[in-house]
Amino acid sequence: MQELLAVRSIRVPRWLDHSLGLVAYIYLGAAVIFAATKTGFIICRYDPFIPFFRLGANTDMLLFGSSILLISVFVGRPYCRYLCPYGAILRVLSCFSKWRLSIPPDTCINCQLCEDVCPYGAIHPPTVAQSPERRRKGKRRLITALMAAPVVVLGFWWLGTALAVPLSQWHPESRLAEQVRLEELGVAESTTEASDAFRGSGRSVEQLYQSALSRRNDFVTLGGLLGAWTGLVIGFKLIHLSVRRRRDDYQADRAGCVSCGRCYWYCPVEKVRLGLISDVSEALPDGQMPTGPLVQLTVGGKKS
Ligand code: SF4
Ligand code: SF4
Repeated sequence: MQELLAVRSIRVPRWLDHSLGLVAYIYLGAAVIFAATKTGFIICRYDPFIPFFRLGANTDMLLFGSSILLISVFVGRPYCRYLCPYGAILRVLSCFSKWRLSIPPDTCINCQLCEDVCPYGAIHPPTVAQSPERRRKGKRRLITALMAAPVVVLGFWWLGTALAVPLSQWHPESRLAEQVRLEELGVAESTTEASDAFRGSGRSVEQLYQSALSRRNDFVTLGGLLGAWTGLVIGFKLIHLSVRRRRDDYQADRAGCVSCGRCYWYCPVEKVRLGLISDVSEALPDGQMPTGPLVQLTVGGKKS
């Protein structure tokens, strides 16, 4: 659905793209912890497309799903790129995929059309040579990132432990204990199905409170783990961004490319290969000349 709606895609600034991309990994960590503790399957519960496929859901989810689809018109696949935990796993796995989009440097004419049309910012241009001063700065940035990463992990671990109480409130047992506590105090507006079922179960209120307390203690550890995971994700991203990779040609980002095929459709080299045009210059904007090796490949008819 998102792909079909991506008709006016704008390029998301790199810093924003990298920052938003972290959310999916943090969400993945939270989803694993919540599922492991039987707190809930939040990926399924908050899937924005369920209202459309099942033709029914509450208003909040309908609004959420509609917003994602509206954003899809201007930002390519926003849910897959910035929220979906499954998308986060696929991004990592795509780095090791055998079959993927690649740009052969011996035929690319460096026209930049693929970079311009890719709605996912997944084509990287060649890098420019750096001055010794900039290289020194780059090294200093990498050392800073390496030193900052453990601090970030520790900081988020601490934050995660501090959030144990609000995190534990997501667990059904904690919510039930809170409802029963309010009922016992006589301030609950009404009973709920869960509290009625509890009262018919034969368990004592003390047992319920003890169980909820035990969940809260679990979440001190689990919140710390989630925090450490968040810090790890941020630390790794900082290091990743600090490493400068040299590129002599246009390259597709293994993790970012979703194989939508748009760049194929615009690439002059591909058009020549498919016989849609006879020369790459026919597909280039007015005045632009090919600069890469394909000049010999197409103008002469054969690769020289
Ligand atoms: S196939 Fe699609 S996502 Fe991949 S580089 Fe080309 S335009 Fe971008
Ligand atoms: S559109 Fe084709 S020829 Fe142009 S830079 Fe991209 S891969 Fe190279």
